Amino acid sequence: MAERVIPLHPHRPAPQALHVPAQALVPGASLADQLGRPLRDLRISVTDRCNFRCSYCMPKEVFDKDYPYLPQSALLSFEEITRVAQQFVQLGVRKIRLTGGEPLLRKNIEILIEQLAQLRTPDGQPLDLTLTTNGSLLARKAQALKDAGLQRVTVSLDGLDDAVFRRMNDVDFPVAEVLAGIEAAQAAGLGPIKVNMVVKRGTNEHEILPMARHFHGSGQVLRFIEYMDVGATNGWRMNEVMPSAEVVRTISAEMPLLPMEAAAPGETAERWAYADGGGEVGFISSVTQAFCGDCNRARLSTEGQLYLCLFASQGHDLRTLLRGGASDAELAAAIAHVWQGRSDRYSQLRSQLPADASSATSGRRVEMSYIGG
Ligand code: SF4
Repeated sequence: MAERVIPLHPHRPAPQALHVPAQALVPGASLADQLGRPLRDLRISVTDRCNFRCSYCMPKEVFDKDYPYLPQSALLSFEEITRVAQQFVQLGVRKIRLTGGEPLLRKNIEILIEQLAQLRTPDGQPLDLTLTTNGSLLARKAQALKDAGLQRVTVSLDGLDDAVFRRMNDVDFPVAEVLAGIEAAQAAGLGPIKVNMVVKRGTNEHEILPMARHFHGSGQVLRFIEYMDVGATNGWRMNEVMPSAEVVRTISAEMPLLPMEAAAPGETAERWAYADGGGEVGFISSVTQAFCGDCNRARLSTEGQLYLCLFASQGHDLRTLLRGGASDAELAAAIAHVWQGRSDRYSQLRSQLPADASSATSGRRVEMSYIGG
């Protein structure tokens, strides 16, 4: 097993300073990056902390008690997050996903959700406001999240067997409590609920069929995620990736699947349906079927750095502008300027890189627990 590299601040590469471009934004002008992709989806990380230690995201031996987590003062306040989000909405964002770390660990997150739920698109429409959680606090919080204005949740669950679940998240947390959280979210009306399972060959692939059987006919949408070389600490190897095509075959052998149309441009999951009407299953295949072509996602770190790709190695410092007295128009112009210069497509390029290139470049990639999945 290759020795794990522990970089100094693996999740905090020094950001690029953001400048307000001289040319003001043309109101209503459509915004596209270098590959013609619009800005539609903003993922906001509200904490870099988590109560799980999933080996593919926050391995325990790196993210231990001495790890330099961000001090409270470094985090954007709810008012700052909402102000920045408003500029993104002006620029075309229609969906906001709250992430982390584990977003439900951020104290009073309902207050932030209330603020974001007030935002409207230029034509007065509400946003699609959603959140990704490990489900550990969901049973307690589901109703309050709904009352605050959250529309949907996505819950991460990497197996039904407690021992396997423990091997994936490296903490002693019972699957039953996550399932209770999913039920509470369903009861609170936070559906359609999506359940994300990361498949890591050699660790949990034998949970694929039990998970498919469990969520078949439940109304919840199970999605299988290929294990990714995110960040610099998870020791990723290609031979631990189980391609989605193989997962489709595994399920179809028992419960035949039929391909479905994509729901919206830029969607990450490839959709399939059970032939027997048992509902939908999704496959997020960043390694074997890259979807960078219509990637319309930006990411805001918990301390106000703008990232243009999950595999980026540098962010853009929005917080300094924000706390430096920039006007809303200046903030929007700076964000637009960065987006227009975007040409990220790491997953597309990964497949053209030599096999070991991923580990060669990993030292510089930002951590997923810092910018959200
Ligand atoms: S690799 Fe980057 S550009 Fe490609 S889909 Fe993922 S986030 Fe988007």
